[in-house]
Amino acid sequence: MNKQTPLVPADYAPADLVAMSEIGVPSANGHSLRSEAATAVQTMFAAASAEAGLTLDMTSGYRDYGLQTELYTGYVADLGQEAADLTSARPGYSEHQTGLAADISSQGEGCVLEQCFSTTAGGQWLAANAHRFGFILRFPDGATATTGYEFEPWHYRYVGTETSAAMQAAGTTTYEEFLGAPAAPGY
Ligand SMILES: [Zn+2]
Repeated sequence: MNKQTPLVPADYAPADLVAMSEIGVPSANGHSLRSEAATAVQTMFAAASAEAGLTLDMTSGYRDYGLQTELYTGYVADLGQEAADLTSARPGYSEHQTGLAADISSQGEGCVLEQCFSTTAGGQWLAANAHRFGFILRFPDGATATTGYEFEPWHYRYVGTETSAAMQAAGTTTYEEFLGAPAAPGY
């Protein structure tokens, strides 16, 4: 999904959501993900703890059409539409609405939902390891012309380990490039 590829229908909602609290995963805002992605986050957070002593937190997961409408409307009111579109998806266009995207933070390191997250131990561990668990960094640095979004070092999209490994092996930085899909800088 991107600014050229909305959800159909726009108010799509997945049927297999799992609350992170049900599987013992920290999620400050009580979020959920689709079952397979939820399990992958659980495994990834356990590995971050065991391998690097990190306590990761899922700051945001599934967001429904109504919540995305509220968030986007708020960003437009605060920033204006042009700036809002670089940081928040319009309703029906958000990866969070698929239940396959997770915004991740690292407890005690600050930089929650800020670009400086990329300099924290948690951000660096994720950048190096998320592909092992089926996740890709969806909005990398310097790729706004392709993805349509500014660098979001906290936003990871679940694609499954087969795809994340293939993307890692190919050395492509954006999902669009990996798929051979056109760039999606705008709506
Ligand atoms: Zn996100």
